[in-house]
Amino acid sequence: MKNNLRSIIRIFFLILIFTLWSINKIEVWLFILLAGLLITPFMGRVYCGWICPIFTSIDIFSPIIKEKKLQKYNKYFQKMVFKVVIFMMFLVVFFLTKKLDLAVPFFILLIPIGLLIAVLFGSSQWHHICPFGIIFSLPARFATKGYNLISRDCSKCGLCVNKCANSCLILGKNRPLYFGREHCLSCGKCKDSCPQNNISFGKLPLKQSRGGTAL
Ligand code: SF4
Ligand code: SF4
Repeated sequence: MKNNLRSIIRIFFLILIFTLWSINKIEVWLFILLAGLLITPFMGRVYCGWICPIFTSIDIFSPIIKEKKLQKYNKYFQKMVFKVVIFMMFLVVFFLTKKLDLAVPFFILLIPIGLLIAVLFGSSQWHHICPFGIIFSLPARFATKGYNLISRDCSKCGLCVNKCANSCLILGKNRPLYFGREHCLSCGKCKDSCPQNNISFGKLPLKQSRGGTAL
């Protein structure tokens, strides 16, 4: 049910961004982004998981995306220097689209760029270098709510780890499931994949809301 609700909300925002573009009001999206950023310390990256049109587009096309063609380059996407360089490049593109008054605004341009990165390197690589994702990851470290284990009965089957949209779940042999808070997109795919209903969205204990382990 919740998954259906999330799908409806995501489609709504995908239609909304194209509608805003078509009526020359794309700057309204900036306020949606800002609102998403403001709620991140309280709710985590719900903008990424529930609103972002790039993530929604990637999920829509995921059945036909043959991922990981260039997987050997994936290690670079994790490196901070690489992320900073890409972020600066996106900043330049942002100002160029403004200065040159391009027909395709930056928010729209990122959708095919994100899809292309997902096709070539895998969708989680896009999440590593998404310029908005990099910004959202900063307050997300301090999120007081998020997805977490709710029971010690975890069988460590790893299904949630495989489904995680941003490779931020780690399952160690002698440790509980680890949620990398700053990278968690609040998408709930881990929750939906758990056969034991062990994952839920809720308030995080203080020591866990800074990237800590579950339970
Ligand atoms: S931990 Fe769960 S909610 Fe967070 S990104 Fe991974 S699958 Fe989505
Ligand atoms: S899917 Fe559920 S049972 Fe399996 S490792 Fe994840 S939390 Fe544990």
